[in-house]
Amino acid sequence: MDFITVCNIGIHIMVFLFGICIGSFLNVCIFRLPTGESLTKQNSHCMTCGTPIKWYDLIPVFSWLILRGKCRACGAKISGRYILVESLTGILFVLTFLRFDVITDGLYYPALLCLFIAGLIVIGFEDYDTQEMTVGVLMYLLLLAFVTRVLTSVLPTRFIRGCDVSLEDGIIGLFAVSVPLLIFGFVLTPLICNFIDEDRKAVRKIRKRLKTEKLPVSEEQKLKKALETHTTAVKEKGVTFGFGMGDIILMSAGGLMLGWKAAVVAAFIAIISGAVYAAVLKARADSDKPVRAFAFGPFLTAGLILSSFFGTQLMNLYIDFLTVPAVPTM
Ligand SMILES: [Zn+2]
Repeated sequence: MDFITVCNIGIHIMVFLFGICIGSFLNVCIFRLPTGESLTKQNSHCMTCGTPIKWYDLIPVFSWLILRGKCRACGAKISGRYILVESLTGILFVLTFLRFDVITDGLYYPALLCLFIAGLIVIGFEDYDTQEMTVGVLMYLLLLAFVTRVLTSVLPTRFIRGCDVSLEDGIIGLFAVSVPLLIFGFVLTPLICNFIDEDRKAVRKIRKRLKTEKLPVSEEQKLKKALETHTTAVKEKGVTFGFGMGDIILMSAGGLMLGWKAAVVAAFIAIISGAVYAAVLKARADSDKPVRAFAFGPFLTAGLILSSFFGTQLMNLYIDFLTVPAVPTM
């Protein structure tokens, strides 16, 4: 083994250890941000017995493995989520660094990408747990993408090397997926729902009858009561239709950071995997447990993370495939 190889292996081990430590902090963010708890003030404690956790039981990944996922004081099960987020962060950080030749390209661009992936992990799990995204994390992603684009345009050769996303790709990426999502989620879906949703149809029908027909008082009261039930049903469903504003901001940030090609690939991955998941939910649902709305954020973040590795290349292959070869001239 030559010196360079040893250096490279060393760097990647460091990156993994650093990644699992960041992952440990991401766990705190995922659990505390939705409840508004402070990220720094409170010390870690067992969720069951409340015993403060000693520093040697807080080592990412390793402590969980040594304790076999159980509290040292009371033996209660510790969520596998901890080790999942920690190891996922470590592995994704290493995979990101593996894409670059750190010794010639430097650490800056892969480090920026890792910071972005960290934010995506928080958003994905947060949305999965609560169906909501913290505004602060979305703003962090947007700001980080903006800073990265500025740095890669101003310092292309001195500090930020190995970046294959141009300024134009980033600016197009800001809108490439977010604008279609906006149109689909806030214009088309409500319009379509208006025509196919049973409750909405019922509301229109009852309103029309109340307005145009002369009804006996008892009948009118019955209709008014039905109107109220249907209106509440519409209101409850209203939020679950289409995409949230969070999804749109997320895809803007993703497009600015990774370029429009990767953002489009991410959207495809998300829509296809989301549709498969919905089909599985529907197949398993019965009359007792009807299909409930699920968060789309985890699919979008997974799509963005995957396409940060090969999205641009995949899109370029597709564009080449579509391009008709030039006719040879005589
Ligand atoms: Zn305990």
